[in-house]
Amino acid sequence: MATNHIFFDNASTTSTDKEVLKKMEPFFKDEFGNAASLHSFGQRASAAVDESREKIAKFLNCNFEEVVFTSGATEADNLAVLGIIFANGYPHKKLHIITTAIEHLAVLETCQYLEKKDVEVSYVKPHKNGVVKFEDIEKEIKDNTVLISVMYVNNEIGTIQPIEKIGRLVLEKNKDREKRIYFHTDAVQAALWCEMDVKKLGVDLLSLSGHKIYGPKGIGALFVKQGTIIKPIQHGGHQEFGLRPGTLNTPLIVGMATAIGLIKKWDLLKVEKLRNYMLQKVQSKFDGVSLNGSLGKRVKNNLNLSIKGVEGEALLLGLDMEGIAVSTGSACSSGSLEPSHVLVSIGLSHEAAHGSLRITLGKDNNKEEVMHFLKILELLVKKYRKMAPKI
Ligand code: PLP
Repeated sequence: MATNHIFFDNASTTSTDKEVLKKMEPFFKDEFGNAASLHSFGQRASAAVDESREKIAKFLNCNFEEVVFTSGATEADNLAVLGIIFANGYPHKKLHIITTAIEHLAVLETCQYLEKKDVEVSYVKPHKNGVVKFEDIEKEIKDNTVLISVMYVNNEIGTIQPIEKIGRLVLEKNKDREKRIYFHTDAVQAALWCEMDVKKLGVDLLSLSGHKIYGPKGIGALFVKQGTIIKPIQHGGHQEFGLRPGTLNTPLIVGMATAIGLIKKWDLLKVEKLRNYMLQKVQSKFDGVSLNGSLGKRVKNNLNLSIKGVEGEALLLGLDMEGIAVSTGSACSSGSLEPSHVLVSIGLSHEAAHGSLRITLGKDNNKEEVMHFLKILELLVKKYRKMAPKI
């Protein structure tokens, strides 16, 4: 990649891998059949969908019928949360959900929506290191708890949550409960880096997204363990075992499954080395830099830094002028700068949250790009610190 187009924002999305594009192409062209049609066009599309579902099932160590395709992880998260609530006594019973304060909005806002509809929700806070303690989840369990939804890897600070431990806890609790608890994890940011065997994790529901793993945008999947009592949240055809109506998007399904099949072939160890090199250089070059969230319990491509005396947004724009794409922990919404709910929940002041920069490396980045970034960052930090009013 040319140094004037450096993409360090791989948590927001990834490029589509060449092999993925190649595998999708025929399904945009001659093989355009509807997978539900009985003729041979349909049969060929259906065979491609089956093969893709099989690949994803193998990746998750689950059954073929336990993989439900959706339009992305936002829909998968909505289906998991709303689908469980609607199928397990709502609105006649007062139900309770446990989630965390650092979830992606796809889960967080779905829970907030349900709260307005009389569902109880507990938002467990992470510790300062950005990791939620399973004991804190356990403390919140009540007789009417029907769902625990905890993300696997946080999309801003990259911290890995103790999913296996929570899975074991739920299994234990369910032994002597009349009404069982379901366990969902949003594994969007984990798929490239973490254990994805749903049996080992002990989850009932798990969300995936195509575009975070070098696959296409607009496709995702929800693992739904056999026997889970869940309702569809859309109504229409009977595709996806009756859980998600709509004509199957064959090219995107093929693309997502191809990306999943390639994960083991990519040199992701290189990404970790580059990330560590970058961190070490940043820490030695600048004073007043802190890493947000644990380094040890973090995916290998993520750095989330607060740089004292500098606005994250200004750095982002300055870097962008130099062709370098990163992200920041503050989102400009309705004219005011809202600090990230994740950074605030791990105890950062609004000032530190505004000074944050998220750098997420990808499989195609190289050392030359990292060195160029460090050079530009140094210039920008010096410039902005000089400009800042002295108090
Ligand atoms: N969950 C997490 C943790 C994410 O990072 C994202 C994407 O930003 C989503 C859900 C939503 O995924 P999609 O873009 O596939 O709807």
